[in-house]
Amino acid sequence: MQTHQFDAIIVGAGGAGLMAALYASKGGAKVAVVSKLYPTRSHTGAALGGIGAALGNLEEDKPIWHAYDTVKGGDYLADQNAALILAENAVDAVIELEHMGLPFDRTPEGRISQRRFGGHTSNFGEKPVRRACHAADRTGHMILQTLYQQCIKNEVKFFDEFHVVDVLLNQGHCVGCVAVQLGTGEMHVFHGKATLFATGGWGRVWRVTSNAHTLTGDGAAAVYRRGIPMQDMEFYQFHPTGLYGLGVLLTEGIRGEGGILLNRHGERFMEKYAPKIKDLASRDVVSRSIYLEVRAGNGIGGKDYVHLDVRPATVNRYLAEAGETRRVDEAQIARALAETLDVCRTYAGVDPLTEPMPIQPTAHYAMGGIPTNVDAEVVIDENWTVLPGMYAAGEVACVSCHGANRLGTNSLVDLIVFGRRGGIKIAEYVKQASFIPLPPNPTAASEAEFKRIRTGKGKTRPYELRKELQRVMMDNVGVFREEKALSAGLEATRELRQRFRTDLTIDDQGHKFNTDVLEAWELGCLIDLAESTALSALNRTESRGAHSREDYKNRDDVNWLVHTLCYRKSDDPYENANPPLELNTKKKVDMSLAEKDPAFAPKERVY
Ligand SMILES: Cc1cc2nc3c(=O)[nH]c(=O)nc-3n(C[C@H](O)[C@H](O)[C@H](O)COP(=O)(O)OP(=O)(O)OC[C@H]3O[C@@H](n4cnc5c(N)ncnc54)[C@H](O)[C@@H]3O)c2cc1C
Repeated sequence: MQTHQFDAIIVGAGGAGLMAALYASKGGAKVAVVSKLYPTRSHTGAALGGIGAALGNLEEDKPIWHAYDTVKGGDYLADQNAALILAENAVDAVIELEHMGLPFDRTPEGRISQRRFGGHTSNFGEKPVRRACHAADRTGHMILQTLYQQCIKNEVKFFDEFHVVDVLLNQGHCVGCVAVQLGTGEMHVFHGKATLFATGGWGRVWRVTSNAHTLTGDGAAAVYRRGIPMQDMEFYQFHPTGLYGLGVLLTEGIRGEGGILLNRHGERFMEKYAPKIKDLASRDVVSRSIYLEVRAGNGIGGKDYVHLDVRPATVNRYLAEAGETRRVDEAQIARALAETLDVCRTYAGVDPLTEPMPIQPTAHYAMGGIPTNVDAEVVIDENWTVLPGMYAAGEVACVSCHGANRLGTNSLVDLIVFGRRGGIKIAEYVKQASFIPLPPNPTAASEAEFKRIRTGKGKTRPYELRKELQRVMMDNVGVFREEKALSAGLEATRELRQRFRTDLTIDDQGHKFNTDVLEAWELGCLIDLAESTALSALNRTESRGAHSREDYKNRDDVNWLVHTLCYRKSDDPYENANPPLELNTKKKVDMSLAEKDPAFAPKERVY
């Protein structure tokens, strides 16, 4: 076992982790970034569409309108103070990225170019606005490259291919984490004054997902297993346009460029569900509409998918119909959606310039996660009690600026804004804090669990259980939900945990690059997060944002303007207690904007 000591340990090297590392190091802290992937392979690199900021480069825009869209898009569950910070800080955060060298697309005058995106409007919902800043459809890739270079320049120390498996708590503080080095199988202890989790999402809980294979939520699970709650797990976003059968994401930017959703009759069905903003309605609305079309037998060829059409002739027809003067041509579409065309041609054999794309909703984004305040400090209860030394940012965190449903482009904003705030806060904190000692035997628990997994004498391979879990979650805890299916889903996750503990077998018994064991480890994490998602969803007897209950179709603002906190009460991080989980729904949603301006008060969402 090796021990490393740094002022700040950042777990994860996506946009959130890198931004936090950069700012902590700028503030004078000695910083280590521990990442299971080589940094530029993080999922942030897959973000295509853009990053939202009310720069107003092409038409009038204001941060307060961005905050309004965020609150409304989040179906009023967003903490309004956090949504306002997100929108206000977005402007200089994007300009700062540009100054660091990020090659944004530009207007002819040389300003950062902006495009439309679902749910982005001006003047409190009046009409669509161009707010998404982008570098072609490679925005996330460019963010990662830019931030990684800046971190290297600032002498942040990187530990790549180190898989964090446990978080260390002592004397009421977070004091670091335990990681397995992929190349050697050796355990490393990272001892820090501050530890920030930025480990991204867990789309791999579901069968059809846009998320990379690595998005298994192990950072979230490590924290959760040590008694820190998961907040708002029932709110998981399905992106409407995943490539049929594969789930690979086709960016909302396609509809931003004028792409249209069509059913088997060639009908633009979003006109029925969202007469005002149609195909650019927020993601929860579009995903549900696609499901309803499919259910009504309007899927293409009677199957469970519809078409997304961005052929110039189609786009121009609808632009003309809407009375717009703008027209598009092939070269323009090919330039703006270069990655998309490539993905469709490679994975589906479809050329979007000449054929419509087959699409279906795909599990995409966790609104829930580790609860934090607006400075990325982890809070552990409804009274916003801070756990000293522990921070979280990015998709793994729940600030909660996205509420029940995240708007497109707001995740990249979240990474940059709250990653930066976390980094600044950490730099301040480590200046006055001293190192709290490590707990005795810091690696004992995770080492024992690894040994148990490695030497399992069962009959089932991890991938078999994973497939079963993903099927169960897709069928029972997907876009539409109801009590019976949710209960069955919850029960199934518990049975799967049992099988994970008693019936597993691992082929590779070695220590070096043992991805077999690490995949099994990731499966354990997926099971924990799936269980907490199913229970939180079963408990919330209303429909709001991405959480759509067929047996409770209405939003219930009287009883449910609260966040869900889900705790694992077990002393053993790897074994459930009895009863296994505890829910707390006393954490109220921050309504500070609504208190000043009725525009922010909950009302029915009309599109
Ligand atoms: C295909 C796709 C397209 C998207 N497009 C957009 C978009 O256009 N606009 C937008 O706003 N959002 C978009 N999103 C969402 C957004 O990209 C993500 O929410 C965001 O990038 C997450 O960033 P992050 O920094 O939190 O984590 P990630 O970028 O996912 O990085 C996670 C990091 O944690 C590390 N890690 C994970 N587990 C461990 C562990 N156990 N030990 C050590 N390290 C660990 C990984 O190595 C990685 O470095 C998209 C998402 C997808 C999947």
